[in-house]
Amino acid sequence: MRKKSTYEELEQRVKELEKEAAKRKKAEDELKELHRYTRELIEVSLDPLVMISSEGEITDVNHATELVTGYPRDKLIGTDFSDYFTAPRKARQGYMQVFKEGHVRDYPLEIRHRDGKVTPVLYNASVYRDAKGDIAGVFAAARDITQLKEAEEALRKDEKKLNALLADLAAKNEELDSFVYRVSHDLKSPIVTIDGFVGALKEDFGDVLAEDGQKYLGYISDAARKMELLIKDLLDLSRIDRLTRKKREFPFATLVKDTLKALQPQIKARHIVVNIQEDLPVIYAERRRLERAVDNLLTNAIKYIGKENPSPRIDVGVEQQNGQKVFFVRDNGIGIEKRDFDKIFRVFQRLPSAKKQIGEGTGVGLTIVKRIIEHHGGKIWLISEPGKGSTFYFTLKGKEA
Ligand code: ADP
Repeated sequence: MRKKSTYEELEQRVKELEKEAAKRKKAEDELKELHRYTRELIEVSLDPLVMISSEGEITDVNHATELVTGYPRDKLIGTDFSDYFTAPRKARQGYMQVFKEGHVRDYPLEIRHRDGKVTPVLYNASVYRDAKGDIAGVFAAARDITQLKEAEEALRKDEKKLNALLADLAAKNEELDSFVYRVSHDLKSPIVTIDGFVGALKEDFGDVLAEDGQKYLGYISDAARKMELLIKDLLDLSRIDRLTRKKREFPFATLVKDTLKALQPQIKARHIVVNIQEDLPVIYAERRRLERAVDNLLTNAIKYIGKENPSPRIDVGVEQQNGQKVFFVRDNGIGIEKRDFDKIFRVFQRLPSAKKQIGEGTGVGLTIVKRIIEHHGGKIWLISEPGKGSTFYFTLKGKEA
């Protein structure tokens, strides 16, 4: 084998060196590229990003930091990072926390711009390590929450306005209720006087009055009684929210039975079959008030059962709807058109169909029921079909609610 000449060896060595140089250049280029890429990533962020040394000096920032502080990069680097916050101590505490725990999340601070403008931010920061794995400093990213703060402030203002409006409304309602209370209270005594004197007239002068006169007295007395009923309903209505009675627990079944006792004459007269569901629950309510509500519902069920109903029937019970106890009073009476479902809960609203039924009404009953149920934190609604009957549903709040 021919021995390589010195020249050839040299040539070989040069080639190897050239190869190595090319490799190194490639590695350097790659490093530069990586650096450029990282820089771009940092700069593209709209969030201010800062690198802080373990001594608390700024070692690097992105453009967003320049914008939020008003200082150029070269002025920021080398300065104490906490100088740029409205609360430098709190900033340092956050920084210490990063060292202790390795990171902080959503740490609230305010950055002060050199012209005084303050930007509220949330900081997320972590420690970063050098090649040996030692902590070299902190990398911190701030999220500008100015808009969030403004939205919160606007919401707070709206809420304040709304609360003021609600308070105003409550005050007006109260005023209206006490006005209704006063008026109905004052109307009561003249009505009682009218009724009393009509009675006296009948008794003392009944025999000298002609038949027409007797009839007119009857009309006056009927009207006075109706007015008395109306005033009583209005008084009751105005009292519901003005006075809160004590709530207690008691079986719903006893309330229903007690209420039905007083209604027996009408139930018998109309041959109505009343069915009360067994195992009704114990409820938590103002007893007398709820009795009034159930009494109104049952009285209506009886009144509007229909004159020609061949098998009049009323059901009282409770069922589970969407995980909630829902009480009901159901009749198979004259029913109500869907379009009137809301109307009947408004004060003085009576449907034309009601006037053809036996028994009087003031159109206040269901308004009272609704107020009582709502006073108990519940809801009332119905389903009904003309000619088939109606079911009034209501909910109540439990004791723990
Ligand atoms: P009213 O004193 O007239 O009974 P309510 O406020 O209790 O006043 O009821 C309002 C109207 O709703 C009644 O006049 C009647 O037209 C209708 N209504 C109430 N309950 C029933 C029912 N169970 N079936 C049919 N109609 C009803």
